[in-house]
Amino acid sequence: MKKKNLSNLEIATKLIHVGNEPDKETGAVIPPIFQTSTYVQSSPGKHNGYEYTRSHNPTRTRLEECLAASEKAKYAITTSSGMAAITLMMHALPKGSNIICGDDVYGGTFRLFTTVFQNDHNFIFLDTTNIEEIKKTLLEKKISLIWLETPTNPLLKISDIKKITSLAKAHKTKVIVDNTFMSPYFQNPLDLGADIVMHSMTKYLNGHSDVVGGVLMLNNKALYNKIWTLQNSIGPSASPFDSWLVLRGLKTLAVRMEAHQKNAMKIAKWLEGHKKIEKVIYPGLKSHPQHKIAKKQMSGYGGMITFFTKGGLKEARKVLEKVTLFALAESLGGVESLIEHPAIMTHASIPKEIREKSGIHDNLIRISAGIEDVDDLINDLENALK
Ligand SMILES: *Cc1c(COP(=O)(O)O)cnc(C)c1O
Repeated sequence: MKKKNLSNLEIATKLIHVGNEPDKETGAVIPPIFQTSTYVQSSPGKHNGYEYTRSHNPTRTRLEECLAASEKAKYAITTSSGMAAITLMMHALPKGSNIICGDDVYGGTFRLFTTVFQNDHNFIFLDTTNIEEIKKTLLEKKISLIWLETPTNPLLKISDIKKITSLAKAHKTKVIVDNTFMSPYFQNPLDLGADIVMHSMTKYLNGHSDVVGGVLMLNNKALYNKIWTLQNSIGPSASPFDSWLVLRGLKTLAVRMEAHQKNAMKIAKWLEGHKKIEKVIYPGLKSHPQHKIAKKQMSGYGGMITFFTKGGLKEARKVLEKVTLFALAESLGGVESLIEHPAIMTHASIPKEIREKSGIHDNLIRISAGIEDVDDLINDLENALK
C-alpha cells in the first residue's frame, strides 16, 4: 500500500486521513471497529502491543492519532466522558495543589471541583478575563495549574490564552484549556503556549449527539505517561465503538464548524436587532467585550450564542417552549440546533447567588446553532418570540 505523507497537512485534510489509513489486513478504506476486550498472545507476554482494551485498543489508537494531529499535540488520551478527562487531570496533580479556575466554567467542572476534589486541591475561582487578578494570585501563592475555559459557557467570556500562558510560564505554572466550544478547527491552545488541551468529544468533535466522550492532549511525555497510567488504573477509557463514531464524526469537523459559524453569525446579528431581545453575546459580534482577543486567538467564532430576553423567567420560558426546530435540550455541538436555559438546566449545580453574580440570570437563553438552513432557524425563533 502507498504510504501517505501526513505531516504538514492542513487540519481539514488531517481530520480525514490521520488515523484513517486503510486496514492493513483487508485494505478496507474505513477502519474496522475492534470490538474486543482482549488479545491473543503467542507466548506469555509476547503480543502486538495490545493486551486488554482498558489499556489499549486499535480503534482508540486511531482516534487518538487523529485528535493529536488536529491539535498539533504529540499525545492524546481519550476517555468515556469529558468529566472523566478532567478527573484524570485532577488525579495527575500532587495532593494539595493550588489551582486557579475560571469563575464561569462548565457547570459539571465546577461541581467536580467543589464536591469531589475540594479536599484534594485548593481551588481559587476568579474571572480569568482579568489578567491583573491572575497576576496577583500567581504572586501570592504557588499555583500548580490554571484551568481556563475560553470561550466560557454560557457567557462566552474570552480569556487571553497567550498572555496568561506567558505569565504562568514565569511561575512554572501549567495551563490547561478546555477547548470544547471552539474545537481544534477554530482554536489551538498549544500553539498559544498552553500545556494541555481538553475537550468534551461529546460536542463538536463527534458532532452528531450520539457519543459521550472526552480527550486530553499534550506534548509533555512524563505527564502523558502519568495520565495514561491513571487512565489504565482507574479505567475510564473510551470504548471501541464510541472511538469509531468520533473518528467518523471528525472527518466532517471542518465543514461542520464553518456551517455552525455561518449560521450562528447570522442568527446573532438578527437577534441583536430584535426588539424583544435585551442583549446578545456572540464572540463574532463587535459588541462582544473581548471581540478583539477572539479575533486574535481564534480563527472563527463558533456556533454558540447566548442572549437575554426582555423580561424574566416567564418570557424566557415562553421562547423555550414555543420553538419547534430547536430542541430544548442540554449539550451542544451537534448538527441539530439546540436551545436551553442554563439557570434551570446546565448550570443548576451552581448555587443561585454565584450564578447571578457571574451573570447567569433567569432571562438568559443559550443556543447551539446547528447546520440546518439558517432562515428556517430564524423563522422558528421569530415565531417563538412573537
Ligand atoms: C460538556 C462539557 C464538558 C463535560 O463533558 P462531558 O462529555 O459531558 O462529560 C466539559 N466542558 C465543556 C465546556 C462542556 O461543554
